[in-house]
Amino acid sequence: MLRHLTDTRDFSKEEIKEILLKASQFLNGDYTDTLKKKLVINIFFENSTRTRSSFEVAAKRLGAEVVNLDVATSSSTKGETLSDTATNLDAMGPSAIVIRHSNPGVPKILSRYVKSSIVNGGDGAYAHPTQALLDLFTLNKALGSVEGKNITIVGDIKNSRVANSNIELLQRFNANVTLVAPVHFMPSYSNVRKLYKLEDAIKDTDAIISLRTQTERHQYPIYASLKDYALDYKITKKLIGDKKIFLLHPGPVHRNIDIDDDMLEDERTLVLKQVENGVAVRMAVLEKLILDR
Ligand code: ASP
Repeated sequence: MLRHLTDTRDFSKEEIKEILLKASQFLNGDYTDTLKKKLVINIFFENSTRTRSSFEVAAKRLGAEVVNLDVATSSSTKGETLSDTATNLDAMGPSAIVIRHSNPGVPKILSRYVKSSIVNGGDGAYAHPTQALLDLFTLNKALGSVEGKNITIVGDIKNSRVANSNIELLQRFNANVTLVAPVHFMPSYSNVRKLYKLEDAIKDTDAIISLRTQTERHQYPIYASLKDYALDYKITKKLIGDKKIFLLHPGPVHRNIDIDDDMLEDERTLVLKQVENGVAVRMAVLEKLILDR
């Protein structure tokens, strides 16, 4: 059966455990060209540094061919509808199409028109499933397991697809999730603990996921400046002290706004580990979607 990954709910808990186990093996260099002769097309309508290259490296490590579509020169700028672009790409016979788009729901809609697996590389403020999977993988490695652990998400949660996907996945794996944000960045979920002061959350947290302010999704500037925001929500070495708290961030980091220089260099900060793990997790996701049919 053709499968897609449009949000974290597309995989059961058992399937996610399998994917993370596979990712561990891949991380140890235990892989071959299982996707040889398969084609993966990356089409990103929003900017990306990590996610696009991570999918490309992941696909190539498993022997797949990769085509990166440059949206600026694609026919969507000539007025072609998105579904027509997708069905035309699909006619070239890819096994998977990885798509990022600023409109929430685009990957899900396209999945109805194509014969290849659609992988969501981030859609608006809705979902970023592979980021949540790699965050779970990174947290599991650091903490043993997230079960019963306190995980704090800090920042522009309301506009963050990373937060949205992380909350779903972490809660499904029985972590205690706390959200910390100013009122205007706080989402309306009712099933999550919410705090407005960073100091209140770090007393009992095992890990923090810091997020960038998604200024591209604000219709008008919410803070007078990012520096004002940083005064209340920046993760600093002074704040963390010698507590055993791991720090994650999906990138791109606003240096000295989200996290200060000293904390970025601290060994409890796992930002580069997330990037490393991301390739292995995406290898496992692509392999599952393409081979498990
Ligand atoms: N890279 C992440 C995303 O695409 C986080 C961010 O952009 O702040 O959502």
